[in-house]
Amino acid sequence: MVTRYPAYDLSRRNTFGMKVSCRLYMEITEPEDLLALDFDALPQPVFVMGGGSNLLFTGDYQGTVMHLGNASCHAERSEESVLVTLGSGVVFDDFCAWAAAESLWGPENLSLIPGEVGASAVQNIGAYGVEAKDIIDTVHAFDLRERRFVDIPGADCGYGYRTSNFKTTWKGRYIITAVTFRLSLVPTPVLDYSGVRKALIDRGKGVPSPISGHPRPDKREGPAGFAGGRGRSEAEAIGEGIPFPLTPQIIRETIIGIREKKLPDPAKIGSAGSFFCNPVIEKDHFARIVALAKAENGPEYEVPHYEAGEKVKVPAAWMIDQCGFKGMRLGGAQVYPNQPLVIVNATGDATPQDIITLEQRVIDTIQDKYGITLHPEVEHV
Ligand SMILES: Cc1cc2nc3c(=O)[nH]c(=O)nc-3n(C[C@H](O)[C@H](O)[C@H](O)COP(=O)(O)OP(=O)(O)OC[C@H]3O[C@@H](n4cnc5c(N)ncnc54)[C@H](O)[C@@H]3O)c2cc1C
Repeated sequence: MVTRYPAYDLSRRNTFGMKVSCRLYMEITEPEDLLALDFDALPQPVFVMGGGSNLLFTGDYQGTVMHLGNASCHAERSEESVLVTLGSGVVFDDFCAWAAAESLWGPENLSLIPGEVGASAVQNIGAYGVEAKDIIDTVHAFDLRERRFVDIPGADCGYGYRTSNFKTTWKGRYIITAVTFRLSLVPTPVLDYSGVRKALIDRGKGVPSPISGHPRPDKREGPAGFAGGRGRSEAEAIGEGIPFPLTPQIIRETIIGIREKKLPDPAKIGSAGSFFCNPVIEKDHFARIVALAKAENGPEYEVPHYEAGEKVKVPAAWMIDQCGFKGMRLGGAQVYPNQPLVIVNATGDATPQDIITLEQRVIDTIQDKYGITLHPEVEHV
């Protein structure tokens, strides 16, 4: 079914809460309807959106905003894995919750990331050591150039850090209608992030659960291992030191607890998550930043960073914090005090211009101080 809404208010369709509208909004629930649609007759340009959680609408949109509300679900089980095909309009966290409840491994570290299944394959969403590409088997899409449906293997989608061909070389060519994920029946916990491991160990020690009301694992269940596990395995070794059997549900609850402390809840405070990408710089450039930070903070000071091949990735949040932006307000926009990588609509009535002015202020200051140009992760529409 295709439903058309002229002069549509997008305020509730973007997590930043920008009060903007579009000339035409179209809700499409059956992907087959795309075949008969006369795209050239629609107000141009046409923009396909998901849950609006990675977007900054910079003003009223003069063209058509289209949403694929396809919420279909189909699962196929084999001995070691389950192939789940979900319509692009399924809320990604509903998928994570379902998989955890079914004891299926794969998306648990991606719990609570806002947005829908279709966009997860565009963005290659990621958190706590897992990316969507790790579980995407096939992307099902409508090819606007050839006007036909195609199945694209995940391996061909050009996935990288928060990017894919859908964001670059294929931009505007495909409308994603569904995604097939491969989930594992065999435990595959990813505990690369020390914060996740620590939270799990704390949970075992009886430190209050990050999520009230969730039952704690029963210590009588057995020694360190995995529910449904198949004897001692590499996966079990990953769980070493955690005094209860790991399950996707326990990891999901832990991740949710960590995220709730750090990130604003889009239902309460508008944002689009991390506003800037973390820059990757040359080692000699990083050495100059270290010297500057030690001069400012003392010789023992350590600059957070990650090795990225021959280069170094520096957390943008650290630089933003060092420049004194944490909590800074400009109009209704604010650098979120708990996580300076996030810009929020603090008053609820921030304008796109408020956000853009604060964004530019951050970019200019970081450029002046560190010689690094920050690039937004949030898509400006
Ligand atoms: C509080 C908060 C926390 C967040 N944390 C994370 C995080 O930890 N990790 C992370 O990776 N992201 C995070 N994000 C960003 C965001 O959740 C993801 O980018 C998410 O995938 C966006 O999904 P969406 O459905 O809202 O897509 P939208 O924001 O609506 O669209 C994103 C892009 O996908 C395209 N698109 C959407 N649907 C389709 C489709 N069916 N076919 C073709 N193109 C389509 C759009 O054109 C756009 O280019 C966070 C956001 C918020 C608000």
